[in-house]
Amino acid sequence: MEKQLALPNVVLIEPKPVSEELLLKVHTKELVERTKRQWYWRGAVLSVGGMVEALEMVYDGRLRNALVFDVAAGHHAGPSSAWGGTYLSLTGPAVVNLREKHRRDIKVAILDTDAHHGDGTRAVFRGDKNTLHVCFCYHSTVEEDGTKVCVGLGWAVGDQDYMERVKQEFIPRAKEFKPEIVIHLLGHDTCIGDYGDRGLSPEFFPKLVEVVKQCAEEVCGGRYVVASHGGYRRDVAEYIFPKIIEVLASR
Ligand SMILES: [Zn+2]
Ligand SMILES: [Zn+2]
Repeated sequence: MEKQLALPNVVLIEPKPVSEELLLKVHTKELVERTKRQWYWRGAVLSVGGMVEALEMVYDGRLRNALVFDVAAGHHAGPSSAWGGTYLSLTGPAVVNLREKHRRDIKVAILDTDAHHGDGTRAVFRGDKNTLHVCFCYHSTVEEDGTKVCVGLGWAVGDQDYMERVKQEFIPRAKEFKPEIVIHLLGHDTCIGDYGDRGLSPEFFPKLVEVVKQCAEEVCGGRYVVASHGGYRRDVAEYIFPKIIEVLASR
């Protein structure tokens, strides 16, 4: 269902739950059965369903960009284990679906700027040279011919340092990799006072989206999907997401 919002070129789309068949292309049967019995199952399957649809629509040009609101799915969910508030993979099923509908070798870049290491995402895309995964976390590592990268941030960073690291560590890699679409797992747990505090101000997040959007314009015709990730400060969420939508909707 699509609903027009106040901004002229923005629509709200209510997601459909992801199919179990698609989940089983990424997760083990045991994980799916176990998760199905939990209270967060509904939120997780709707979040993944939203991501599946967003990726398809942005890839084939029905939408220019998308922001996916995510609960209970995300970057700590691997093929057979999941933790940390994320119990199904958000990106795995969406990328599998996209490749099945179009081409097996679609190149996807995943940028993870949540405070924590995206262990689940890394496990899902392990060995997949067509997926660039750049994760801003604790320890710097470069694996699999530079397609699996972690950027250790150290403890003291603020807006300026963080942005510099994104410009140094993600943008050149994306330009070299030449993805056809960019997915951005955007946690705001990195905000001052949140549980993954990296000294970032609320104003930082829309600016980050502006920079990554510009990069997507240069590398993949602007195909860019943002998904919410960790963060418990409600005031920050209420401030940043309308601003992020404005950035995505601007030309
Ligand atoms: Zn986190
Ligand atoms: Zn990492």
